[in-house]
Amino acid sequence: MKNSILQTGNSKPAIRIGYGFDSHEFRPGIPLRIGGVALAHDKGLGGHSDGDVLLHAIADALLGAIAAPDIGALFPPSDPKWKGADSVIFLREALKRVRDAGYGVANMDASLILAAPKIGPHAAAIRVRVAELLGVHGDCVGLKAKTPEGLHTENAALAHVVVLLEKLESPEKPRKRQTGKPRRSRL
Ligand code: MG
Repeated sequence: MKNSILQTGNSKPAIRIGYGFDSHEFRPGIPLRIGGVALAHDKGLGGHSDGDVLLHAIADALLGAIAAPDIGALFPPSDPKWKGADSVIFLREALKRVRDAGYGVANMDASLILAAPKIGPHAAAIRVRVAELLGVHGDCVGLKAKTPEGLHTENAALAHVVVLLEKLESPEKPRKRQTGKPRRSRL
């Protein structure tokens, strides 16, 4: 199969969109973290890492926007190194790759789908933390929470995220010395 179109790597659109999805199952007796914030609840989200469904979806949206491998490929659950890992590590790696690709985050928007706990009372804290992690203003982080009507996913949390990236200005190149008259020798 010809795949040269995937290898040229010279396309730099001014904006790029990314989409991420994740889901985790609730398990009793473990801490609940959503968006990098600890929420008081009798159940947490299971998973190899800390199960932060929102940070995972954001990281995948960032990686998807630059067509990079997803977090499952970068941080394989089979690697014991990531057992119980703070998902902020995954987000920071995704952000680093975004910046290395020459992009910055413009804004993001997320929908969380879960039966409990209610996200409303924690939404501001989650938006502040996510904005801080992404290095954007709080007004650039959207967060909605839905209950899983008709989905039969009462024991799970689902997250859908879109991000918009914008191309960073290229760092200014040092000006070339004007060539014209030859410089007088100091000798
Ligand atoms: Mg996950």
